[in-house]
Amino acid sequence: MGIKVAKFGGSSLCDAEHFRRVKAIVESDTDYCYVVPSAPGKRFDADEKITDLLYQCHRQVERGRSHEEIFKKIADRYIKIARDLALDFDVTEMLLETSDAIRRYKNPDFAASRGEYMNAVLLSKYLGWDFIDAQDVIKFDRQGSFAAEWTNEVLTEALKNHPRAVIPGFYGSYPNGDVHTFSRGGSDISGAIVARAARADVYVNWTDVSGFMMADPRIVKNPKVIRELSYAELRELSYMGATVLHEDAIFPVHKAGIPTNIRNTNAPQDPGTMIVMQPTSKREDQQVITGIAGHKNFTLLSIEKAMMNAELGFGRRVLQALEDFGVSFEHLPTGIDTMSVVIADKELVTRKDQIIQRIQQTCQPDSIEISAGIALIATVGHGMSSTPGTAAKLFNALYEAGVNIRMIDQGSSEMNIIVGINIEDFETAMNAIYRAFVKD
Ligand code: ASP
Repeated sequence: MGIKVAKFGGSSLCDAEHFRRVKAIVESDTDYCYVVPSAPGKRFDADEKITDLLYQCHRQVERGRSHEEIFKKIADRYIKIARDLALDFDVTEMLLETSDAIRRYKNPDFAASRGEYMNAVLLSKYLGWDFIDAQDVIKFDRQGSFAAEWTNEVLTEALKNHPRAVIPGFYGSYPNGDVHTFSRGGSDISGAIVARAARADVYVNWTDVSGFMMADPRIVKNPKVIRELSYAELRELSYMGATVLHEDAIFPVHKAGIPTNIRNTNAPQDPGTMIVMQPTSKREDQQVITGIAGHKNFTLLSIEKAMMNAELGFGRRVLQALEDFGVSFEHLPTGIDTMSVVIADKELVTRKDQIIQRIQQTCQPDSIEISAGIALIATVGHGMSSTPGTAAKLFNALYEAGVNIRMIDQGSSEMNIIVGINIEDFETAMNAIYRAFVKD
């Protein structure tokens, strides 16, 4: 028998019907030992997330106003879920206590955490499993940074006493016991932490899509789902803006060598995406590339100076100018007498002129050209390094689509090729690359 930890997102627990699906999933496989729920999410587009409503309650309290009207919307959701599931549990008492505590504590993190807390209480009653409060087992230090090793010790001990349990996502506590939350979407992190402490064989992250897509579906029509992805590929893609999992959810499971499976609560028969430590040698029905992701709004600084390559410390002085103004850069493609630095626009907003001036002073270049309006696209895949012609295919696809390439950077792992293009070409380029590599 193995151990599985399941995290269910807010849309997977938005109403009683979804609670039933969740129960069917965890009961269909005895390996499921621990479940980490989010707070109820939206049931339809215009609906409100419980977490958002809880933050609104807190804001009312902070302004000295009544939060009751907003809290009633929250209460109605939980009451309906409990009633529809015919739970033998008095939700009203829990709701009254919660509303009162939000008013008394005046603490935004505490208020926000109650969505997960109450949902986990309901789910544990519905499944007939134990409840472990995350406040007791997920630890932050006094500065609010997650205390990974401390948590792992405490949680591992706690799990020993509970063969099956529901543990609310999103929050934990400071050393003094006060509630503290992760950033938004943080239940993904809680699930990964529980998977590590439970020494799970797999962390199953149940959401509302059947896995990680090869490209952003808002740009490329009906992209394929990635069947297998390595943690390294995932890092590259999410760094470029592809999201399914909270970024910080990767570390605990990666560290413990546990694969993550992204699955769809509304289509449990779909295998979803498996995120693994190392790519398996034979990736079935997978393409040469694993995925494409991109980001807009970068600036390219192109610095030119004759004999630059012979000048000791030139690169360091350019980067020093950035560091002095607290600016981090994304890429650094270089030529013999040229050096380009790709920087996110948001980093440059107020500091562009000062940085240019500093580079002029310390490097005395022949010219500095500034090109704003650059988009970056990363084409990622372990398969690329062993398949000749990958770069040729990519550049040819862009050529045929009439896209001018402003910059090229191939990571030394040969796992990705990044191209810089003009923002106007972003959608065209994404589609061209996708079509060149992905066969229907
Ligand atoms: N409920 C929290 C949020 O809306 C955490 C989560 O869903 O992961 O951000």
